[in-house]
Amino acid sequence: MSEDPLLRLPRLYADMEDQYADIAAQIGLTCAECPDNCCTSYFQHHTHVEWAYLWLGLAALPKEQLRVIRSRAEEYVNQARQMLAEQRVPDMMCPLNEDGRCILYAHRLMICRLHGVPNVFTLPNGVTKDFSGCFRAQKLDATQPDRPKLDRSELYRRLVELEVDFVRSMPKKPARVRLTLAEMIHQGPPI
Ligand code: SF4
Repeated sequence: MSEDPLLRLPRLYADMEDQYADIAAQIGLTCAECPDNCCTSYFQHHTHVEWAYLWLGLAALPKEQLRVIRSRAEEYVNQARQMLAEQRVPDMMCPLNEDGRCILYAHRLMICRLHGVPNVFTLPNGVTKDFSGCFRAQKLDATQPDRPKLDRSELYRRLVELEVDFVRSMPKKPARVRLTLAEMIHQGPPI
């Protein structure tokens, strides 16, 4: 039997961070003094394994702190629903961000770890997708047209592998995930 996916996920996260740091150093990208905060970006997440790992971190918080976070998450979910109904992209602060910092840094999701540097990935059908990174990375692009990019393909493949193993361990085959982090908090751990 393969090792628990929730034990393997932190190793994948560590590899993501190492590869991100390597590309960021090569292109000279840093988050220092950035006027933007990525934690207001609207992202949906797609794996039960990341959702469960997020909840491992949440469940270890003091009860009152968790209550406050869940209440912020509920507010986020309601406001986001309203904004989407008005054809607006939600741009609210993540319920886990306090004073500009992530309070569950070790449990943050993949996209929180990879957003920023220019990246590329190849789909199973061979089609390659290319992304230019955050606005700062795009500015650097003007001066370094041949700069290195983070290839996410292998990282995604490993995450899919973990997700398949995690879903197999669930008592019932779950529905597909397409949730914001606030929704993951609001709904409770995956069942
Ligand atoms: S989980 Fe943490 S890093 Fe990710 S968006 Fe929320 S506050 Fe930011």
